[in-house]
Amino acid sequence: MKLEHIGIAVRDLKSSNKLFADLFGKVSYKLEEVSSEAVRTSFFRFGESKVELLEATNMNSPIAKFIEKRGEGIHHMAFEVQDIQAEIERLSKLGYQIIDPKPKDGADNKRVVFLHPKSTNGVLIELCQEKA
Ligand code: ZN
Repeated sequence: MKLEHIGIAVRDLKSSNKLFADLFGKVSYKLEEVSSEAVRTSFFRFGESKVELLEATNMNSPIAKFIEKRGEGIHHMAFEVQDIQAEIERLSKLGYQIIDPKPKDGADNKRVVFLHPKSTNGVLIELCQEKA
């Protein structure tokens, strides 16, 4: 497992892309809309890991709700796993709450699930596996 990416909820993807470009002197290498999650994403690479900027595409998006409640900021941490199904079973047995235990298609060619922050010290954790 490695820290695959950190997801940051932003109000405006365009201005955040510019902010990150100014801060780190690099440009986003991928823009992708994930309609099932109602988000537009933008990725920056930092060595082995990435930053994923997330902008809501409508008011029902989990990102819109997050920003409404807590403002912009770090939304989740994503860890890459070899076998997402095995991890779901392992963590469920240990009593961790998985938000939707059926892996979904996420951004950046991944299958993803999220652990409920209630069972993980208030941090929303994404498990992701590269699609074959
Ligand atoms: Zn993510």
